[in-house]
Amino acid sequence: MAETNNTPRGLRVTVWNEYRHERDEARPAELYPGGIHATLSEALREGGLQNVRTATLDEPEHGLTEEALAETDVLLWWGHRAHAEVSEEVVDRVHRRVLGGMGLIVLHSGHFAKIFQRLLGTTCSLKWRHDDRERLWVVDPAHPIVEGLGEYVDLPEEEMYGEPFDVPPPEELVFVSWFGGGEVFRSGLCYRRGRGRIFYFRPGHEENPSYHHPEVRRIVNNAVRWAAPRPGAAPTHGNTEPPESPGNS
Ligand code: ZN
Repeated sequence: MAETNNTPRGLRVTVWNEYRHERDEARPAELYPGGIHATLSEALREGGLQNVRTATLDEPEHGLTEEALAETDVLLWWGHRAHAEVSEEVVDRVHRRVLGGMGLIVLHSGHFAKIFQRLLGTTCSLKWRHDDRERLWVVDPAHPIVEGLGEYVDLPEEEMYGEPFDVPPPEELVFVSWFGGGEVFRSGLCYRRGRGRIFYFRPGHEENPSYHHPEVRRIVNNAVRWAAPRPGAAPTHGNTEPPESPGNS
């Protein structure tokens, strides 16, 4: 069978990163010298994806032109301190593409990204603390995003995020995290909006090495495949004539 962009190898992936911490802070620069987007792209290529591009905030149109998005099946999003600098025009554009079927994977502090708040409709607030440790429990062992994992994943250095996480109830809950301070957090959440699939995945603080962790890299690879667009059906919207009666042929 011919390779289409719906086979995993052919999936067209864009990794979007704010790319500020890694340029002017010592620890993120040491952990992610080419930027978090470069490390995530490398993880996806290692996982067998052949069509991975990157885009960053300071590029024209944040690297997310109409053309770039039209050629993206799944978009990854890492942002933190410059959410406010993302233009409304680009948020509108990404929003339309998700409703049209593009997959979106929102990582860590991307919980406050304009696009995530727009799609979910809530504040997406949470509590946080640096310098903790995390155990990510798999709570849906049959879910495709956890394929190949054990019962849990330990991340010895991570930021704590705690409940309540102000998001709508997820359609599928994949991970629940426990932290050294005793807090818990819903750390792997699946949603659908329009034709698009959205996965929020918590780990990835810029001062911690989580995106080098083999199991985190596996999860990100699995999530891209899960979020890939499906052909689906072709409905009609708007004013319409009655369809042919099924009994009158
Ligand atoms: Zn963080």
